[in-house]
Amino acid sequence: HYTAQDSLAQTVRTFTLVKPQVSAHYVIGKDGKVIHMLNDYMRAWHAGVSKWGSISDMNSCSIGIELDNKGNEPFAPAQMNSLLILLAKLKKDYNIPTANFIGHGDIAPGRKPDPGILFPWETLAKKGFGYYSDIIIVPAPLNFDSAIALRLIGYDTGNLPAAIGAFKRHFVQREGSGTLSQFDLDVLFNVYKKY
Ligand SMILES: [Zn+2]
Repeated sequence: HYTAQDSLAQTVRTFTLVKPQVSAHYVIGKDGKVIHMLNDYMRAWHAGVSKWGSISDMNSCSIGIELDNKGNEPFAPAQMNSLLILLAKLKKDYNIPTANFIGHGDIAPGRKPDPGILFPWETLAKKGFGYYSDIIIVPAPLNFDSAIALRLIGYDTGNLPAAIGAFKRHFVQREGSGTLSQFDLDVLFNVYKKY
């Protein structure tokens, strides 16, 4: 996630209030400071109404990491450094499969855009946290079914344009319409083969 809040202090305050019903396991500041808000085994309220593959209660089976970032600014290098260290620890401790490092926008298409198009998904993928498209992409075959591919990756395609928008934000790193250009389609074909 990105927090879309003004400061780390504000985020921590929000997460310790009961009323907003939001919380996450970790919050990482721009300076790289990691705050462990909640035991990893406890259920946090960070996913909301969401779906990934066949799972619709994401809060019960995921670890939420919030990055102090307003959503329209680059992620700070120190923050990314801390994130990579944290992800490496979590991946090892809980044996998390490579495919299972995803964004809020992936599990709540049409409702949540975070961590957004500025999040360095490719850097994460290079370290084994999630997948990303290869540099060289072969064209998708003519009979390639993009809706089935999105569903196989994990997207809820109940609202297909929203799912396409979420996919593009993550894997093409572009905002845009809920339709696929030939390039988007080729990226989807490339990514889908990894799942
Ligand atoms: Zn979020």
